[in-house]
Amino acid sequence: MATDASSSIFASWPDRLRHSALILLAAGLALVALVIFGELSAARATVVFICVAGAALVPWRLHDAVAPREDAPGANPVESAAVEAIVAGMPDPAVLLDRAGRVIHMNAAASQLAPALRRNELAQFALRSPDIITALREAIAAAEPRRATYVDRGPVDRWIELIVTPVPVPTAFGGTEVCMLMTFHDQTPLRRVEEMRADFVANASHELRTPLAALSGFIDTLQGPARDDEKARERFLGIMHAQASRMARLIDDLLSLSRVELSAHVRPDTLVDLVPIIRQVADGLEPLASEREVRIEIDLPAGPAVIAGDREELLRLFENLIENALKYGASGGRVVVSLTQATSPDGAGEVRVMVRDFGPGIAPEHLPRLTERFYRVDVGDSRAQGGTGLGLSLVKHILNRHRGRLLIESSLKNGAAFTACFPQIRTQDQA
Ligand code: ADP
Repeated sequence: MATDASSSIFASWPDRLRHSALILLAAGLALVALVIFGELSAARATVVFICVAGAALVPWRLHDAVAPREDAPGANPVESAAVEAIVAGMPDPAVLLDRAGRVIHMNAAASQLAPALRRNELAQFALRSPDIITALREAIAAAEPRRATYVDRGPVDRWIELIVTPVPVPTAFGGTEVCMLMTFHDQTPLRRVEEMRADFVANASHELRTPLAALSGFIDTLQGPARDDEKARERFLGIMHAQASRMARLIDDLLSLSRVELSAHVRPDTLVDLVPIIRQVADGLEPLASEREVRIEIDLPAGPAVIAGDREELLRLFENLIENALKYGASGGRVVVSLTQATSPDGAGEVRVMVRDFGPGIAPEHLPRLTERFYRVDVGDSRAQGGTGLGLSLVKHILNRHRGRLLIESSLKNGAAFTACFPQIRTQDQA
């Protein structure tokens, strides 16, 4: 009961002052009792009381002098230089908050991401996304890590993942205090790759489904109404053959593309002469050229043109460029393939192979997108020519692997020129 009474008397006092007052009260009562029973003189009792009072009150005053007052914003026992240096040195945006959500430290990346965040102010007021605020509140309440993903809308949208982790931080007085470490991770590149993968699968399935639907349609017709029609059967079998070849080409191109992508980081190191490779491709495409009534003119140097390359990939590259020129530029009647030595914009030597046609050309708005997978200027025309929409994408990937580049020059009615540029080999490569 006595404890209850004393605690209610001192209830509104700060903890440490209350304890000091209780010690003083107990000491005072004991000393008065000793004086009354004649065990101690009044003067000695007074001296003892002063000593006890000093012992009880001085540490409290001392503590008060060094400890932050809880209501004073900005004063926090975890505001040490070491903690600040760790937060500042984190590579991703990072903010350290106290248990109320007040910002103790943050690094430059965090102020850039959320300029409204201020030290000693509540993060909940500065962060706009309700998802972040909910994650922060839940992490504080449960003292457990929480994650949230949100989209930072701007000229370019960014997907950001936020992680709030409770961390015990050492305080200036030897103990620890649980703070909230809020880190932000930019997921945009991953998201983009994921979107590209989904688009790619959708496009590839669509491209395969179209010939497959045609094939099963003709099979139904041949089994049904055209069963005894010999002329129709011949015609349909021809179409089915073309559709099956288209599917095979698509699968071939997809496999080649994934093979080149897998080895994209390994630059070919075999020395190959481009001259016989170009001749071999041009000879192989002669039947197509005569079918389209196009003349292939080859302008190659007398000597070898050696680069560090992969022979099979280079065959595919020139096959795609020359075949495109024969298919899409047939109306020009001629295709010129030439090889020259030149200098790249950064001053390095280059071997350039240009495939030029004199057909209808390509409108400028399409040029930047031509090397995207499945991009075609005219989908119907490409399908009619047996195209897959992957040829130029494959060309670009092969050139990337060879540390080269592709130049495309074209305008409507003026034909098109596709130039594959390869870095010239250095003398030690040849040795
Ligand atoms: P495809 O399998 O459709 O030929 P490509 O990636 O090789 O796919 O080419 C993409 C598109 O670029 C083609 O569909 C065509 O519209 C256009 N194209 C490519 N080469 C030429 C060219 N020499 N002249 C005009 N258009 C071209």
